[in-house]
Amino acid sequence: MAGERVLVVDDAAENRDFVVNYILKPNGYEPLTACNGEEGLLIALRELPDLILLDMQMPKMDGLQVLEALHKEGCDLAIILMTFHGSEELAVQVFRMGVKDYVIKPFKVHELLDAMERALTEVRLRQERDTLTCRLEQSLSELNTLFSIGKSITALLDLEQLLNRLVEAAVYISGAEEGFLLLVDEETDELYVRAAQGIEEKTARTLRLQVQESVAGQVVCTGEPMIIGGQRLKIQTAYLVKSLINVPIKVQERVIGVLGVNNRLSDEPFGRHKLDMLSALADYAAIAIENARLFGAVKEERHKLETVLANTEDAVILVEESDAELVTLANQTARQAFEMGDDVTGRPLAEVAGNEVLIDLFHQARAGMEVARAEIFLLDGRTLNAHVTPISGVGRVAVMQDITHLKELDRMKSEFVSTVSHDLRSPLTSIKGFADLMPVAGTLNEQQLDFLAKIQRGVETITELISDLLDLGRIEAGVNLEMDLCDVGAIVEKVAQGQLSHATLKKQSLYWEIAPDLPPVLGNPLRLGQAVSNLVNNAVKYTPEGGQISISVAPADGQVVVAIKDSGIGIPPAKLPYVFDKFYRVQTQETENIVGSGLGLSIVKSIVEKHGGRIWARSQVGMGSVFTFVLPADSKET
Ligand code: ADP
Repeated sequence: MAGERVLVVDDAAENRDFVVNYILKPNGYEPLTACNGEEGLLIALRELPDLILLDMQMPKMDGLQVLEALHKEGCDLAIILMTFHGSEELAVQVFRMGVKDYVIKPFKVHELLDAMERALTEVRLRQERDTLTCRLEQSLSELNTLFSIGKSITALLDLEQLLNRLVEAAVYISGAEEGFLLLVDEETDELYVRAAQGIEEKTARTLRLQVQESVAGQVVCTGEPMIIGGQRLKIQTAYLVKSLINVPIKVQERVIGVLGVNNRLSDEPFGRHKLDMLSALADYAAIAIENARLFGAVKEERHKLETVLANTEDAVILVEESDAELVTLANQTARQAFEMGDDVTGRPLAEVAGNEVLIDLFHQARAGMEVARAEIFLLDGRTLNAHVTPISGVGRVAVMQDITHLKELDRMKSEFVSTVSHDLRSPLTSIKGFADLMPVAGTLNEQQLDFLAKIQRGVETITELISDLLDLGRIEAGVNLEMDLCDVGAIVEKVAQGQLSHATLKKQSLYWEIAPDLPPVLGNPLRLGQAVSNLVNNAVKYTPEGGQISISVAPADGQVVVAIKDSGIGIPPAKLPYVFDKFYRVQTQETENIVGSGLGLSIVKSIVEKHGGRIWARSQVGMGSVFTFVLPADSKET
């Protein structure tokens, strides 16, 4: 390859001239010459030529001594010996000292040229290998730096520390004199220094650059990286740089800052590769800043939520998703209500809250994966209305309102209603009695008979309503609720037989299936019959002609489960939670002409709950409804 520098060390001038003028120059090599060993050594050490052609026999310092001196200096240069016949043995000896080849004087031009080419090829290969190794080492070190920064980000280091490390890495990778990370202050439209290296602390602290007027600001505006090299550039007042790289820090396409490095002394421009590395670091910076922002936002939200929960009057308990039912959160109201103490987080619910109904409610919410509701009576006499909701990925949360005063109002209202109903009974009996006697007293015309029928129907409706109201009052108060061992299957069968004609009138099919070996239930057969009767009556009432109604009674886990299913009009999901409320009636086109007091289901609920059971409904508009209740089997019998 032309241009390689070859040093000829020979005391014989004609030899030097021959090699220089007939071999080196014509073949494009750049010759250097030395006329003795000492001079050869000096030039070799100073110029580090690509190849040395070294004469062996020289006065004062011979070739061997030159070699030894170079070896001692640790100088690993390619050398070809020029020697005479008879000194080959010596030549063999010097190969150990790194000599590549030898030629025997007098040599032919091509002999030396071939030897030179072989030696230089080896030199070139070695140089290439060294360059590659050096590049590889550099890339490896850059990758290691990036990797360790990446790891720091996922390790959620302190943002301050992390951004400083990022700038340090930017300076290290780019070999720059200074580095900085600027962030946009959106209020003032300025850039300020968030982290810096190589820049005076005071400058870094006070520096503010207008986005619209600065070089770094251009990167913010365009969103494109910038690389400038080789020219003297004034990037801000009294701040001269010769080369720089500025890359944008982007969060979801929005530039929030700039990562930059620059040189003020060195003219060395930055390469494209450095820009890529800096872009990668800027991406890390964006992730770290965004992580910190999100983390801060989450922390703030959590704090707000905690404050709201702590100050709410409702009792709130959050239990984690696993079966262990560990308490994640219990606010002050809940801790007081259930006398839980302060240190409840992470402990099993059953261990910290001794209330069976509450614990059971959490179990129900898990089993049913839907909201479970119940009233909880506290030891201090208060009543809480609790509902436990399963929340996917979070756990189950119980929210409980104190309804003690509502219960009291309800009691007073029931008392009032019961008194009034009672007092209404006597006048109603008279109205009915006299209305029944009217035809006996004299002949009535058709219109009078019609009016009389209306009076009788009206009186019947009011009497039914009053009897329902009185019933509800009695059931709630537990009056006449003597309990005995009952066969729920037999009770259901009797009711179903009784309703058969009612269903047949509407061309409906009514089936019932009663499992054998049902455990007995401790209950009041009349009231249980009333509950089933109300449910079957509703099923018939709210199912159009030709529909199907089925009743099933089956044992399950120490309970008896009764389900009444119909193919009727169904109940809209938003109304379903209220159907057990007193006087609640679903108002739709389908129910418009169906008469009822809105008390039937509250009576059923009351009866079931008085028996220690639970009732719920599932329904789909236009498809039908299922009302299910469970009663605990008598414990002595199971
Ligand atoms: P009502 O005297 O109005 O029937 P209930 O307390 O028995 O009062 O029922 C309350 C409301 O629930 C009813 O008005 C009706 O809208 C709805 N409902 C009850 N049972 C059914 C059912 N099987 N199918 C559809 N809707 C029903």
